[in-house]
Amino acid sequence: MAAVKGIGGERKPMASHATEPVRGIEWPDRARAIVCVTIHVDGPAVEAGRGQNDLGVNSRGRYALRRGIRRYLDMLDRHAIKATFFCCGYDAEHWPEPFHEIHRAGHEIAAHGYQHEGFDLGEREPELLEKTHDILAALGQAPVGWCSPSGRKSRLTLPTLRRLGYIYDASEKDEDIPYLLEDGFMILPNNTVSLDDFPMYFSGGASAAEVERNFVQELDAALGRDGYVHLTVHPRAGGGSGTPARAAAVDRFLAYAKATPGVRFMTCRELAEYCLGDAARWQDARS
Ligand SMILES: [Zn+2]
Repeated sequence: MAAVKGIGGERKPMASHATEPVRGIEWPDRARAIVCVTIHVDGPAVEAGRGQNDLGVNSRGRYALRRGIRRYLDMLDRHAIKATFFCCGYDAEHWPEPFHEIHRAGHEIAAHGYQHEGFDLGEREPELLEKTHDILAALGQAPVGWCSPSGRKSRLTLPTLRRLGYIYDASEKDEDIPYLLEDGFMILPNNTVSLDDFPMYFSGGASAAEVERNFVQELDAALGRDGYVHLTVHPRAGGGSGTPARAAAVDRFLAYAKATPGVRFMTCRELAEYCLGDAARWQDARS
């Protein structure tokens, strides 16, 4: 395994643990690991959903629109990586230009609530999913993926998404690899422990170096095993990775992953479509 250059000079990927069985997963081009880069924009929709104005201490979401999104578009362009941007309908409705830039750059736009609703919406949920869907579709391509804000999900969520033509949900935390629901809907699990910047910064008080190290360790652990790395970063200020030093940590991780042999980047949509191309292989991965 070749050493690749990262922060602080040369470093070798960690040795994998030989005792854990490797499941018979075949990734495209015989890749050893798939990395899905997901950018959760979380603009002022978050504050609006809480009934706050978006000024002063509550302007961290505005940072995503003013600085964060473009910082990430530049970064992804330099690395030639296509990412999935999970977007709130409210943000794209009120500040459409950054979202047009995301679409024009060829990234996937997926749905992430209207005002980042992290609570049960009851019977209003289908209406808000449809509203967000229409706003995001007007940017140029109808979304086919959804990730729950704050992990909330109800009995109405998936039936509504199926009706709107969605093919995957990236909200679950119950597996290391994608899996298929009985009706042909893909679940692309995320890892909100050590592959999501927000809880590490916001709840864990981590430094940028610690967050970067967690990302690297997750990739190293996935190599040659299940090989699925679902990265979640937020271009906002506050708990996100929009600001310079935290964005630089993400930048270095992407460089590390790019330089690691056998790593392939896919958008969530590309991954879901790949899995659905041979759907039977992905059934009931939890058993
Ligand atoms: Zn979010």
